[in-house]
Amino acid sequence: MQEAPFIAVGGGLAGAAFALELARNGAPVLLLESTRSPHHKVCGEFVSAEALGLLAEFLDRELAGLIKDAVRIPRARVFLDGRTLRARVDPPAASIARFELDAALWQSARSAGVDARQQVTVQSIAGRGPFRIATSDGEFESRALVNASGRWSNLNLPPAENGARREKWLGVKAHFAEPPSEPSVDLYFFEGGYCGVQPVAVAGESGGRVNASAMVRADVASTLPDVFARHPALNERSRKWSPLSDPVSTSPLIFRQPQPERDGMLMVGDAAGFVDPFVGDGISLALRGGALAGHCLGSFFSGEASLREAARRYGRAYERSLLPVFRASSAIRRMLVLPGSIRKPMLFILERTPAMTNYLVRKTR
Ligand SMILES: Cc1cc2nc3c(=O)[nH]c(=O)nc-3n(C[C@H](O)[C@H](O)[C@H](O)COP(=O)(O)OP(=O)(O)OC[C@H]3O[C@@H](n4cnc5c(N)ncnc54)[C@H](O)[C@@H]3O)c2cc1C
Repeated sequence: MQEAPFIAVGGGLAGAAFALELARNGAPVLLLESTRSPHHKVCGEFVSAEALGLLAEFLDRELAGLIKDAVRIPRARVFLDGRTLRARVDPPAASIARFELDAALWQSARSAGVDARQQVTVQSIAGRGPFRIATSDGEFESRALVNASGRWSNLNLPPAENGARREKWLGVKAHFAEPPSEPSVDLYFFEGGYCGVQPVAVAGESGGRVNASAMVRADVASTLPDVFARHPALNERSRKWSPLSDPVSTSPLIFRQPQPERDGMLMVGDAAGFVDPFVGDGISLALRGGALAGHCLGSFFSGEASLREAARRYGRAYERSLLPVFRASSAIRRMLVLPGSIRKPMLFILERTPAMTNYLVRKTR
């Protein structure tokens, strides 16, 4: 049995942010990632201003170019029911390829002293603190545990179906060549899904590149060409594209009530709750949740609070600062799936009153 005071399961954004926050306060952290990190992930790669602020704190100085050189996204366009809604993204977001973002955080965690190990899968967890953790690389014991294993892992199985058939949603993304134009995040909505398109730069490459990333019901489409065919304007735009990467996909995408704590474990990022991706806040929530968990467990590390008290503090802070984003995104999603007879007049008004559209965008921040 190996011992490690603090273990984080999952070396994505939330796990790395947690480990960095705690390690910078001198705590020994073991970060376990099941795959070879980084790897390509389904993501719109829209990095909000809130997320950029945290990244600036977390990334090693020599990796700061990732933020500085990233394409800035100062506006959003929503294409729905033949209408185009426009909104400012203020302060502007950035577009950063996930492969590069995950790699930079992982590297920064290592240089902050985190014991970050790849290709170690956590198989099961016992106890409520201390924890016994069975992995593909033997057993560990830890005083505190953070679950940052994402929206879909062997550790976060979906709730029982109770006989009700659940809609199955999937995510798919790829990069394509497209001549550079005025940068914006473009969201194409259709019955049963949406596809986000935005420019993205990759180190050492010139020429235009866009990321197309879709969330779609499995009975509606399962590939990007199927997705493009669902929206006339997107179909037209994508005709000029040539692929620059293989597509990656993920399923199922499951929405459930956010849960910041489970059996004494702090839940962070998508493992705590998966926010509707069209609001472009998942990365920010993962970084903020990871940092918050690191901060709260810091008080346990210093002996100022028990594990239970540290977990309670995290739960309260999560509810106060992160839950409102989930509420705002659900409200907007409900509006988007209203019957056409109600939705269309609303879109008509929004198209003519950008101030109202800007307000809705701000509500998701
Ligand atoms: C279609 C789509 C588009 C999106 N677009 C955007 C966007 O534009 N902007 C935005 O902000 N957010 C977006 N998101 C959301 C964003 O990608 C996630 O919120 C974010 O990746 C969450 O980070 P995380 O660290 O919680 O999880 P992840 O990045 O998924 O990391 C979890 C890690 O845990 C590892 N793991 C899992 N199980 C185990 C185990 N048992 N043992 C060890 N390791 C394990 C996994 O390999 C993985 O590396 C989008 C999501 C989807 C699906």
